[in-house]
Amino acid sequence: RAKTFGANRIEFYTDEMNGQTFERLELESYLRRAIEKNELILYYQPQISLDEQEIYACEALIRWNHPKLGLVSPAQFIPLAEETGLIEDIGIWVLNEACNQTRQWQLLGFPELSISVNVSGRQFQSPAFVASVKQALNESGLPPHCLHLEVTESTTLANTEYSKTMLNELRSLGIKVSIDDFGTGYSSLSYLKDFPLDILKIDQSFVRNIQENNADAAIVKAVITMCQGLNLSIVAEGIETKEQGEIIKSFGCQYGQGYFYSKPLSKDTFERLLFRREEPVLT
Ligand code: C2E
Ligand code: MG
Ligand code: MG
Ligand code: MG
Repeated sequence: RAKTFGANRIEFYTDEMNGQTFERLELESYLRRAIEKNELILYYQPQISLDEQEIYACEALIRWNHPKLGLVSPAQFIPLAEETGLIEDIGIWVLNEACNQTRQWQLLGFPELSISVNVSGRQFQSPAFVASVKQALNESGLPPHCLHLEVTESTTLANTEYSKTMLNELRSLGIKVSIDDFGTGYSSLSYLKDFPLDILKIDQSFVRNIQENNADAAIVKAVITMCQGLNLSIVAEGIETKEQGEIIKSFGCQYGQGYFYSKPLSKDTFERLLFRREEPVLT
């Protein structure tokens, strides 16, 4: 857990050490070297088809394994990476790693496994972005339809004409475009009509209270129905209980992701889960 003090200090709490504070500049220079030093790693969180209760995809979630800081969560360094521009190199690394790893799993017996990769605003706005995506696909051999790129509403709304062109270009490669955290941004109805999308991820804040809160349930239900009409696939994020999964499924949602099925897992642990096919997904 980290807190930001003022503009320049970032405090980390890890298991080994309490409340160590780092200067922003110090952290930036650590981050700059993180790629070369192989300190960045990907965790993988299963995405489940609610009908078959099977893993059909996973989301790549970055962590920074720093020798002193421990395992640092993306919430603590992605914003800094965005500000400093380091996100461009980090983003390329994530794309390559995610595509290569998924292709390996495909060749080991899961030919249709897909991977979701988060794309940050600055990365998406970069003119080099499409080229780096093409390169990751070419070098890994991953079929384009198995790559799902997750963008947020704020990313695409920052520059709407550019974004539409970009999304069309990505989709023409065969890649699927996913809108992440849906419902937390501006979420106008015309948004879904205007932007070329394949997948919508309902934000976990709506799923969390689906049992207690009628309004949240109504919103989730309406979004699912709307997606069916618009031919968008739907993934419900943040499913933490069996009941939430069942409700979501009864609303007609095809896919789910959340701690109930599995937390994000290291490569090795995810692999073990994947290959233990006959057993239930739950860990
Ligand atoms: P996100 O893309 O919305 O990812 C989902 C986040 O929710 C992940 O947090 C995941 O661990 C967490 N989560 C999943 N299921 C549950 C659940 O059932 N309950 C709760 N409470 N949480 C759940 P994480 O891994 O800390 O990532 C946070 C955010 O950091 C991501 O949100 C994404 O916006 C960003 N991020 C992660 N990896 C990358 C990356 O490679 N590149 C970029 N640009 N951003 C990344
Ligand atoms: Mg995401
Ligand atoms: Mg999300
Ligand atoms: Mg999020």
